[in-house]
Amino acid sequence: MPEQAPHRTFTTERGSFCLARCGCGWTGMARRARSQARADAERHQADVRSDPDAAPERPVE
Ligand SMILES: [Zn+2]
Repeated sequence: MPEQAPHRTFTTERGSFCLARCGCGWTGMARRARSQARADAERHQADVRSDPDAAPERPVE
């Protein structure tokens, strides 16, 4: 059985904006530039990879 959830990200356009989405249901912010949306997607993947169960924004003690 798979150890990691498939976080397949992609970008989609909405009007003049572009936003990143993931197969897990995550959606990034609407960006003006596709490069920004891709950066959001990469950050999401890094977050889930480093700590799958924790909240994305959690202070480190
Ligand atoms: Zn995801």
